[in-house]
Amino acid sequence: MKIAILGQIHRDGLNFLSSENLEIIQIDDFEEDNLISKISNVNGIVIRTANLTSRVLSHIKNLKIVARHGVGYDNVDIDYLNKNNIALAITGKSNAVSVAEHVITMMLVLSKNIFASDNLTRSNGFNNKAKLPDFSELYRKKILILGFGRIGQALAQRCLGFEMDIHVYDPYINSEIIRLKHCKKTNLKEGFGLADYISIHLPLNEVTKNLISYNEFKLFKKNLILINTARGGIVNEKALYESLLNKSIHAAGLDVFEKEPPEENSKLFNLENILLTPHNSALTIECRKRMAVESCENISYFLKNHKNLNRDNIVNLSKIVI
Ligand code: NAD
Repeated sequence: MKIAILGQIHRDGLNFLSSENLEIIQIDDFEEDNLISKISNVNGIVIRTANLTSRVLSHIKNLKIVARHGVGYDNVDIDYLNKNNIALAITGKSNAVSVAEHVITMMLVLSKNIFASDNLTRSNGFNNKAKLPDFSELYRKKILILGFGRIGQALAQRCLGFEMDIHVYDPYINSEIIRLKHCKKTNLKEGFGLADYISIHLPLNEVTKNLISYNEFKLFKKNLILINTARGGIVNEKALYESLLNKSIHAAGLDVFEKEPPEENSKLFNLENILLTPHNSALTIECRKRMAVESCENISYFLKNHKNLNRDNIVNLSKIVI
């Protein structure tokens, strides 16, 4: 059986597929016609960020599984997969720690204004430290976590270590689970009004698009630090820009953007109170390795060895027959 790998993945994943006697074809040009000409005879696809449209998928007659190297799958036409009995897998066990650590990093760097201290010290300003703006602690601050799935829960666990007061908005998670994790269930209005930090861990869909826009910024505290590592578009970027420019919130950290990569001359780049990273919160070396192996295991176990398959990783399990 033949597996297409769209994009580069850690060699441990490729070695695993080879050890399972699966033939590999590596593709780095994701242009639709190139994909159609190269992968029409594969049985499985490992996909990173390439778009897998229904036009491309319709040319692959014996496709059984698409395995995302990650957990978001907005780049795959899931309706087509459901209709054609093709499984969609994610790497549910791989990402949470890496993203949660990235959020903690952003919270600490922004709270402590670390780059200003670093610049001051390098420019021989050691004795001017009293002139630096106030900086603050995470200790006893209130964080609102939007979405209490894998990453939201991993973040909460780490926030507990900082003795933070953790509030959670996720209507789909049982209140008892939230309580057992030492967090407090809240609603959006209450959470927006009390938060010193907000971190977003929701999927992007019609409900969550622009969930945080002009009206919501009016509800936030002035000292709010807003972090989005989930998906661009959940926070309206124009509203965010204006709030940061007017200092109606303190700072923001973004790993994801409405358009990726962002425009070359994005206005966000001119702000001092924002920390930006290139959608790499899940790309620690450890996480890349885990995602490569887990996505390749999903493929091989689905095609050859259902006994070992982690069914929790199959997003459309209820829509397909296996
Ligand atoms: P998950 O599915 O485990 O958790 C998502 C949670 O959101 C679920 O508990 C669900 O109940 C909740 N939810 C869904 N819709 C909601 C709504 N309208 N209101 C409130 N809660 C809602 O997902 P995860 O693995 O924790 O990932 C969360 C997000 O992070 C996804 O969007 C994913 O694409 C993104 N992500 C980004 C990166 C990155 O590199 N920046 C890496 C991994 C994941």
